[in-house]
Amino acid sequence: MKLSKAHFKTLREVPTEAEVPSHILLLRTGMIRKLVSGVYGFMPLGRRTLRKIEEIVREEMDAAGAQEILMSAVQPAELWEESGRWSAYGPELWRIKDRNGRDFCLGPTHEEIFTDIARNDISSYRQLPVNLYQIQTKYRDEARPRFGLMRSREFIMKDAYSFDRDEEGLDESYRIMYEAYGKIFTRCGLTFRPVEADSGAIGGNNSHEFTALSEVGESEIAYCTSCDMAATVERAACSDAPAMDDPELPLEEVHTPGTTTIEAVASYLGLEKKQTMKALLFVKYDADGNEDGYVAAFVRGDRELNMTKLVNALDIPEHAIEFADEAAMGDATGCVGGFTGPVGLHDCTIVVDSELPGQKNLCAGACREDYHMKNVNYGRDYTADIVTDIKVLAEGEPCPVCGAPVKHARGIEVGQVFKLGTKYSEAMGARYKDENMQDHPIVMGCYGIGVSRTMAAVVEQHHDENGIIWPVAVAPYHVIITVMKPDDEVQAAVAEQIYDELTGAGVEVILDDRKERPGVKFKDADLIGIPIRITVGRGAKDGMIEFKLRREADREDLTIAEGIAKAEEIVRLEGRGPAV
Ligand code: ATP
Ligand code: MG
Repeated sequence: MKLSKAHFKTLREVPTEAEVPSHILLLRTGMIRKLVSGVYGFMPLGRRTLRKIEEIVREEMDAAGAQEILMSAVQPAELWEESGRWSAYGPELWRIKDRNGRDFCLGPTHEEIFTDIARNDISSYRQLPVNLYQIQTKYRDEARPRFGLMRSREFIMKDAYSFDRDEEGLDESYRIMYEAYGKIFTRCGLTFRPVEADSGAIGGNNSHEFTALSEVGESEIAYCTSCDMAATVERAACSDAPAMDDPELPLEEVHTPGTTTIEAVASYLGLEKKQTMKALLFVKYDADGNEDGYVAAFVRGDRELNMTKLVNALDIPEHAIEFADEAAMGDATGCVGGFTGPVGLHDCTIVVDSELPGQKNLCAGACREDYHMKNVNYGRDYTADIVTDIKVLAEGEPCPVCGAPVKHARGIEVGQVFKLGTKYSEAMGARYKDENMQDHPIVMGCYGIGVSRTMAAVVEQHHDENGIIWPVAVAPYHVIITVMKPDDEVQAAVAEQIYDELTGAGVEVILDDRKERPGVKFKDADLIGIPIRITVGRGAKDGMIEFKLRREADREDLTIAEGIAKAEEIVRLEGRGPAV
């Protein structure tokens, strides 16, 4: 591509709405363009990188035995009603109507569509296993679209669905996808970690997220430095503190004016935070959005409540619960904002963290303004509807597997693999007959990769103060030839020669032949992050060029032939990404 004839526009200024490096740099390089909040288009260079990532995904999916198809983004509501998700999915689902008032949605994911394919096309065990995938535009009306491609409302996803006879088959399909994901993210140049993930109501060890490590990531992971435990913080089990065998002291109401926080009441009574318990109050909603009862959740005063564990315990979707209006909840249940404890609460679902029954003589709110109770004990003074682990595994807590202190890290979820089991095939009637003509539900897995989010993750891990540093495998072009004086006949001819030879050898080249100052060209080359820069300047008349890698500070003077050979060699070695 010759820049003098190309559509090419970079920005000097940092766009005001962009906070994280990938968003800033993808806008500044002109690779993406915002249309409205959370909706972006891909301009020429951006389209090329996106295609490179798509191609890596495609190659590895094909190599893993999956077959590509392409389904519509428009999905009829009827299929979602069959699976039960038309009401369960919540406001992220982008619902539309056609001119006759018929309901549709723009697909946020495609389980229903692929299950429908399976029930229509598969009837016999002989057709299993099979894995179908697509690379396609998804829609989610995210509450807080942000960080550009990282959390957008329209984005490119690769989604795959496997169909097997039984759990063993699914385990194998899952293993194959897990391995393919490792290859894909390695080839894209990412430093990542597969971690155990929450699999919602389905439970079990059924899901992994692939997390690209990054300070700006929205996922938090907990990992052990001594064993291989690694999980999202949402998912990570947290061990209970050892049960105490202290004698139970008499319940006592104490005046604690104005102490509406754990810190305040603990310091007022001279207690440690872990000698108290903390209440969190919620209201539930049913599928039609109507209030559907109150929930009081209790954890030890020094713990944080884990919302994912709480909604799993209640078996409701995350969007079906919100913090309660304490005054309204007080009228119905007897709670008092800042002074709520389990004793005296009524008409609400009480969920108690699994370690509380083993703790003795805790301090809790008295459900009375300015009063707490001391020596509150489970069984004697209160009970619960649900007792289960609903606490966050905090940094420094013992690893639930080996007991060593855990660490936290932040990352970007670039992919997720998930054992669905028979959830969709049962609901939608996708069944097969075995050798004995016995009928069984097909056992399914689903596997997503955020293709456009992966592009942002690569930028987060590969940039400096001057711009992006694309890994060769996903760079929009491999080489940029910067001509110092395009009017100089010798320089122009040498640049053309290098351009033709490299292009002929399959290397992707930008020729910066614009009539701009060299400084402007170098800045742009660094900003857009082309891995190899060949500068054609005064040395051209003696057959010399300057060779520089974007990722290194050094530059070297080489003959034209050496420069061409070196560029070809680098592209040959790195063009497909690190060996996998
Ligand atoms: P998140 O927890 O970040 O909202 P998710 O778990 O809901 O994501 P999945 O349903 O697992 O997402 O979708 C598969 C992949 O699609 C994710 O791993 C992620 O890489 C990508 N993805 C999901 N939501 C978005 C979004 N709003 N913008 C860009 N990519 C997304
Ligand atoms: Mg996910």
